[in-house]
Parts: sequence; C-alpha cells; structure tokens
Amino acid sequence: MTASIDSSVQELGRQRPEWEPWLAVIEEVLSETADAKWDGFVPAGIEARENKIPLLAGATIALEANSLRRWTERLLRTASRSGTAKMATLKPAIQAALDVFALFKASLCQDGDRLNVIAAALSADPEAFQAVMALAPVPFLHACNRRWTHAIAPNWAEGYCPVCGAWPAFAEVRGIERSRYFRCGRCAGEWQLHCLICPYCGMTDHNELVTMVPEQDGTSRVIEACKRCLGYVKSFTTLQGSPAAKVMLDDLASVDLDVAALERGYKRPLGPGYTFDVTLVDKPVEKFSFWRA
Ligand SMILES: [Zn+2]
Ligand SMILES: [Zn+2]
Repeated sequence: MTASIDSSVQELGRQRPEWEPWLAVIEEVLSETADAKWDGFVPAGIEARENKIPLLAGATIALEANSLRRWTERLLRTASRSGTAKMATLKPAIQAALDVFALFKASLCQDGDRLNVIAAALSADPEAFQAVMALAPVPFLHACNRRWTHAIAPNWAEGYCPVCGAWPAFAEVRGIERSRYFRCGRCAGEWQLHCLICPYCGMTDHNELVTMVPEQDGTSRVIEACKRCLGYVKSFTTLQGSPAAKVMLDDLASVDLDVAALERGYKRPLGPGYTFDVTLVDKPVEKFSFWRA
C-alpha cells in the first residue's frame, strides 16, 4: 500500500475512532488489491463492446482455488477479529468447508439472496457477512479495471460501471472543464457522462434533478438526487480523479452525505446496476520446472 493511501486510512481512523474495526478490514483489502497476482486471473481477449453489457458479464474466469481460499479466509479472519459482535459471528466461517468459488461468484455478481443463504448455513450475521463478502472480489475487480481500460467503450452512457456492472459510488466533477465522471466503488472504474443524468433511471430533466449542499461545506461536496426514482449520487468537485486505491476511502469519508440523503428520503439502490453471470473454473497452479530445462 502506498504511503498516501496508508495515511488516508489513518486520518479516517483519527476522525472516526468508531470506524477502526471496519478500517482494519478495508486496509486488508487495499493491501491485497496492490498484489499483482490478481492480474494473472483477469480473462484475456476482452474486446471493446458497443452495447450496454459490462465487460465482466458472461466472462469465464480461471482462478487458483487455493489462492482464493487463502484470501477469503484472511478477509474473514480480519473481520471476525475486528472487535464488533456482528463481525465476530463470521469466525466459524473461517474453519468451514467453504465452497469458495460459489461464494466468490455470488460476491462478484452482487447476488444478495445467494449470500444470505450462505450466511444462514454458516450461522453468520447476514448483514456483516454481506458487507465483508462485498469486498472479497475487490482485488480481482481492480485488476480487471487496470487491464481493461482500453476496452471501455468511449461512448458508454449507462448509469452502471462498464467493467463490473455496479452502480456508481460517487461522481467527480473534474478540472476547469468540469467534466463529469462516475466512479465505481468495487473496481475503481470510471466513465464520463456528458450531461447531468440520474444513473438509476436515466432522468435528464433538470426540473426533476435536485442538488443538495450540506451547509458547512461550500459546494465542493454535494448530493445530486432524482425526484422521479428517489435515487441519489454524491458528487465531488476535484482537480483530478482519485487514484484507484483511494476510491473506497473517498466513499467512506463522505458517509455524512449518505446520511443527509437518507434523512431526506433518498436512497441508493441495492444490488447490481446490471445483472449478469460468470463462469469460474479452477486454474492449475503454475510451477517452475527447472529440473526439466
Ligand atoms: Zn466497477
Ligand atoms: Zn432517477
């Protein structure tokens, strides 16, 4: 993890001491995300798509089962040790004979029903289990975003992420041109929007879109909400886009805006923006065979 990301996590911890347990989990995810081994699992040969289908939809992904198991166990262990009662219910899952492929697939596809079934079978708190498992595919998804930048259609105009199909975590209004980008909280992907639009229902009528400014902050952090579908997006004015590793932290650091939006009756939809399936297959571990050379 880079020093600047490290200090961002520490700064958040100072501002919100009650978040320390959750920040320990985030820190684990960010350090795993920096591991280049995930790049080796990204499906090759993905080409730009002109249609509305995210790049990950329908992909066949070859993963090393042991590698995935170690990561899943480490994530669950960090969460279960974090000190909250709900997170502690994840402890038995570490020793359970987990079907890591089924679990990873449900997390990757944001299949909340499937995750609830798995949580129930493990007697884990469903909310804690969902929250932690939502982070399990982040290292893989960041690797996809790194390797697939070339394949993102330049005219992508959907509200959901062109890489992984998730709804945006927030919008960035960048530079003096004030170009608008949505950012994905899972893969850190970005996509430019050419007008003010509700990502959830596609509304572009300015009379239906409202901007709410939290009082003490000026106008660099606002909530953009849609009166038709009652969805909202946080929007930050910034010189340039956040580095990939900082997107999750930006999302977390602005939770006051989420609270303000919820209090005014707006929400972010649950589940994926685009529902899709993937096929996971076991990738044999590559071994060096010096003795055969
Ligand atoms: Zn994404
Ligand atoms: Zn809307």
